[in-house]
Amino acid sequence: MINLVLPESLEKMRSDIKAIAFSLLRPIARKYDEAEHVTPVELEVLRRRPSEGKKNKKDKKTPPEKDTGMLPSTNLATIIALEEMCWGDVPLTSSIPGYGIGNAAIAAVGTEEQKEKFGGKYTAFAITEPGAGSDTGSLVTTAVLDGDEWVLNGEKIFVSAAERCEAIVVWATIDPSAGKAGIKSFIVEKGTPGLTLDHLERKMGFKASDTGAFVIKDCRIPRENILGDPEIKKSKTEGFRGVMKTFDNTRPIVATQSVGVSRAALDFTKEKIEEDGVRLDYNQSPNSLSSVEKEYYLMEAHLEAMRLLIWRAAWMADNDQFNTLEASMSKAKAGRYGTLITQKCCDILGPLGFSEEYLPEKWMRDAKVMDIFEGTGQIQHLIVARNIMKLSSRELR
Ligand SMILES: Cc1cc2nc3c(=O)[nH]c(=O)nc-3n(C[C@H](O)[C@H](O)[C@H](O)COP(=O)(O)OP(=O)(O)OC[C@H]3O[C@@H](n4cnc5c(N)ncnc54)[C@H](O)[C@@H]3O)c2cc1C
Repeated sequence: MINLVLPESLEKMRSDIKAIAFSLLRPIARKYDEAEHVTPVELEVLRRRPSEGKKNKKDKKTPPEKDTGMLPSTNLATIIALEEMCWGDVPLTSSIPGYGIGNAAIAAVGTEEQKEKFGGKYTAFAITEPGAGSDTGSLVTTAVLDGDEWVLNGEKIFVSAAERCEAIVVWATIDPSAGKAGIKSFIVEKGTPGLTLDHLERKMGFKASDTGAFVIKDCRIPRENILGDPEIKKSKTEGFRGVMKTFDNTRPIVATQSVGVSRAALDFTKEKIEEDGVRLDYNQSPNSLSSVEKEYYLMEAHLEAMRLLIWRAAWMADNDQFNTLEASMSKAKAGRYGTLITQKCCDILGPLGFSEEYLPEKWMRDAKVMDIFEGTGQIQHLIVARNIMKLSSRELR
C-alpha cells in the first residue's frame, strides 16, 4: 500500500529543489511572461544531461529505502520535485532544456537503442493538428514506408518547445483506413529536411514556453525511428493503446503543474491575508469562521486532494500497475481546481490579485492551460467514466 511518509532522501531533494525554484525561477518569472518567445538562458544550468536517464535505470535496482519500505520511485520522485519547481514557475519549469514531453514518450515506449540515441535530446511531442485535438484518432498526418525510410506529411499545431527542442515525437497514421490502430509515433530530429517551424503562437499565459506550429512535407526519417511496434494490430486499438501509454506517465505530471501553481497562489494569499490581520487557526469551530477563512481552508482541502490523487497515480506507475483511470482522475481534478484556486486567490486579494506588480494574475492565466493540454478536463472525465463503466471510446464519446 502507498506510504505517505516520504523517505529522507526525497524530503531532502524537496527542500533543495524548493531553494532552486525560489532563487532561480521566481525572480525571472515576470521577465519571461513579458518577453514571450525569448529563450530563458538562465535555465541552461538546469539542462538535463544525457547520462541522467541511465542513472534512473540503475536506481530501480536499488532496494527499498529502510524508513518507508517504498520502492525507489522514478515517477513519484519526479512528481515531488516538479511540485516544488512549479511552485517557482510552471512555464519556466516546462522550458528547462532536456525535459520535453517527447522525452517522457521515449522513456515510456522507446527501445533501449532509441533511449540511448535520443534520451539526451530535448524532445517535443506533436499530436495536435488543425482538425485533431481531443479526438486524437482523427489525425491526418501520414507516414509511408519507402525503402528504409518513413516519409511524413502533415501539419502539427500547438507544439510545446517547438523552437528550442532538438527532436520531436510526431504522431502519424501509417494506414488511414485502419483508424486508431494505424496511428504510430515517430522520432523526427530537428533539421531534418521537410520539417519546418511555421510560426510561434502568442498566448494568454504560459508564455515562457515556446509553443509553435510545424509543416511537415516529404520529411524522410530512418525506418528505426518509429516508436513501438510498426505492425497494425488485429485488435483495433492495441497499437494505439501503446502510444496512449505515454499519457499514464505525463498526465500526473501536468496535474502536478496545477498543484505547484495553486500552492504558489495559496502561499501568497495566506501571507497577504495574515498581513491584514486574518489568523488561520485550524482548531477554530467551523461556525466561527469568516468567509475568507472558510474559502481558504476549502482551497487547501482541494489542493491536498489534487496531490493525493497524483501521488496514487505516480505510485502505481512506479509499481507497474495499470493507472489510466487514476492518471486521468488526477488530471481532471487538478486541471479544474488549479484554475479555480488561482482565480479565487485573485478574488480574495482584490486589487493585489489584478496588479502586474505581483504574480497571482499571471498564475491565474498560466493555470488555464493545465486544464487543456494532455487532454482537456472534459476528456479526462470521459476517460474516467469509460474506465469505471468498462465502456469503449466508441460506446461512450
Ligand atoms: C499552450 C499549449 C501547449 C500545447 N502543447 C501541446 C504539445 O506539446 N503537443 C500537442 O500535441 N498538443 C499541444 N497542445 C494542444 C492541446 O493538447 C489541445 O489544445 C487539446 O488537446 C484540446 O484540443 P483542441 O484544442 O483541438 O480542442 P477540441 O478538441 O476542439 O475541444 C474544444 C472543446 O470541446 C471539448 N470537447 C471535445 N470533445 C469532447 C467530448 N467528446 N465530450 C465533451 N467535450 C468535448 C473540449 O474539452 C474543449 O473544451 C497545446 C495547447 C496549448 C494551449
